[in-house]
Amino acid sequence: MPNIAFVNGKWMPLAAARVSVEDRGFQFGDGVYELIRVYNGQPFHLRPHLARLAESARQIGISSTHSIKQLERIALAGCLRSGYRSAKIYIQVTRGAAARIHHFPMQVKPTLVMTFRRLTPIAPEVRARGVSAMTSVDHRWDHCNIKSLNLLPNVMAREEAIRAGHAETLFIREGLVTEGAGSNVFAVIGGTVVTPPEGAAVLSGITREVVISVGRKRGIEVTESDIPLDQLRGADEIFLTGTTIEVLPVVWLDGKKVANGRPGPITKQLYTAFLEEIAIKNPTSSPPSQRGENP
Ligand code: PMP
Repeated sequence: MPNIAFVNGKWMPLAAARVSVEDRGFQFGDGVYELIRVYNGQPFHLRPHLARLAESARQIGISSTHSIKQLERIALAGCLRSGYRSAKIYIQVTRGAAARIHHFPMQVKPTLVMTFRRLTPIAPEVRARGVSAMTSVDHRWDHCNIKSLNLLPNVMAREEAIRAGHAETLFIREGLVTEGAGSNVFAVIGGTVVTPPEGAAVLSGITREVVISVGRKRGIEVTESDIPLDQLRGADEIFLTGTTIEVLPVVWLDGKKVANGRPGPITKQLYTAFLEEIAIKNPTSSPPSQRGENP
């Protein structure tokens, strides 16, 4: 089965999917998106992703043509159609196609695109070794909690990182770490797991939320508070969270080792806890069509 797409009500192979060149997503980045992981044929934490999508759309004044329930049905149908056990679902909602004017056009119908692609997970040896990250000034706007299509600062920052041999850029705003170009940041400082509070400069990451919750359930102290750059540099452990990377240790920061340069014990413990959460929510045994909704 090839990768597939759902575009404004129609299913098709991904390679055949098209939207208008007048779409405001293309013209202005005027839209929002989500990326959802499929494990064992089922979307993981689908509801929180769809709730975040609805909230992002609401915040930029797009009234979605689909309810969360309808989006959920489409996502589950796509999982069945694609048949992939391991996949990623990308959802994009734009303000729609209209003659190019900056302000919101009258009577424009939002565009909905959902794509289903096979996913090859991060190689275990990469996770076991950990990755390198660099820091960079956070030039993004003050609404980073909206998952908008406007990702140019993120794209530029990630490109700079990759060119310099790093896996990720960590943004710094007024001396504090905010998040990665495509990930949330955690550090272990003095035995406590710390992650910057969500808000204007930090996306409410779904993986971030899961990691905080499974960590606390296992008695690990997790606090949401600011991390000054110098504290990040002196951290015992650093790791990133995100839908595709899950929990990924950072072992080099700006060319210097993080502690001893190896993934730390708390990071490993949290990754194990995260895998257990997947096994609970998306067990291998359940047939895709029979499974209930994710909470
Ligand atoms: N921050 C940014 C800027 C991101 O792009 C992502 C990835 N979508 C995240 C955080 C992590 O969010 P999630 O765990 O929901 O994938």
